[in-house]
Amino acid sequence: MPPTRLLILGSTGSIGTQTLEVVAHLNALHAGGLFHTAFEVVGLAAGRGAALLREQAGRFGVKHLALSEANGNSPSGAIVGPDAAERLVREVECDIVLASIVGSAGLPATLAAVELGRVVALANKETLVAAGALVVPAAHKSGAKLLPVDSEHAAVWQCLQASPGNGPVVPALKEAPAGVKKVTLTASGGPFRTWEKPRVQNATRAEALKHPTWSMGEKVTIDSASLMNKALEIIEAHWLFALPAEMIDAVVHPQSIAHAMVEFDDGSVVAQLAHPDMRGPIQQSLTFPHRVPSLVKPLDIADVATALQFEPPDRDKFPLLDLAGRVIRAQGTSGAILNGANEEAVYAFLRGEIRFGRIAELVIDALDAIAPSPLHALDEAQAADRLARAHVRESLRRAVVRA
Ligand code: MG
Repeated sequence: MPPTRLLILGSTGSIGTQTLEVVAHLNALHAGGLFHTAFEVVGLAAGRGAALLREQAGRFGVKHLALSEANGNSPSGAIVGPDAAERLVREVECDIVLASIVGSAGLPATLAAVELGRVVALANKETLVAAGALVVPAAHKSGAKLLPVDSEHAAVWQCLQASPGNGPVVPALKEAPAGVKKVTLTASGGPFRTWEKPRVQNATRAEALKHPTWSMGEKVTIDSASLMNKALEIIEAHWLFALPAEMIDAVVHPQSIAHAMVEFDDGSVVAQLAHPDMRGPIQQSLTFPHRVPSLVKPLDIADVATALQFEPPDRDKFPLLDLAGRVIRAQGTSGAILNGANEEAVYAFLRGEIRFGRIAELVIDALDAIAPSPLHALDEAQAADRLARAHVRESLRRAVVRA
């Protein structure tokens, strides 16, 4: 049987590099007769990391490369420019696109993969937050699958298979699965879970980047510290599983062993447990509907069970969490506004320009100030994204002038 052709968007980031580890692992299983297909990496897209991109291409024998920011040392033959990833998706035949470009920058290439009817292993949650109203109908039209690589959604996806009367659950779903009462995503609570609110407001970059359980890229680590990540993930779950806001909840679980749980109408709650390791969800998206040994450390339940805690999130300390329901109900461009404002605020915080508490203030202010409009096309989502970013930058500029 021919190998499964994989194209990776964001190959030099945290998810991209771990995906290549998983590919090497699965190819070793295949060589040993333990998995039915090998994976051929047919394309890699990166942002700036030309040296690592070249090294990855050499290691996996990849011919088709894309680099969004040229800096003089791009690999020869690579597509270069802001639309390089999208062009790569449109020009290179493949079976699976793993979409892990961070932020709304990943939207055009991901939407292109969906329109082409590829299996999309989706690690870029911002795509659904900013443009779920475009991406999900496009997937239904083309037949593209949207297999979640986000750990909580990979968990929900697995839990939903526990009601086999529904048949195999393959997102994005067209309607809410029958028999499901509630879906709960877990949140680690981030590094500020036990801090008093005033201390959180003034937290530094280094403090916010100290995630207690997951090792991830900077953007998602800051979002985890503010619980914005969970707001984004509730919106993501709404689009993947066709669930209304009222059916999706979040619970703080500091150990990050249970990733999500699904409550069924008969009162059973099915949860998915594993050590926090993104190589698990990545592999599940690549091997679905099969399960084979992975690189994730086996879970010894007797070892962890006495320490599993669950508590309600502190919505006063983390006001961004409540924006998920607001955005799901508002629809239109509200998700693009939320995401654009958050990205701009997070990068200002990472540059040391604002204190931690300002992120939430800036995002809420943008959402209050900009009225959402209907969303029918990609350029409308991108215009809302730009408007939100400009609003945040203007707020920052005014604050500098006042100071
Ligand atoms: Mg997640």
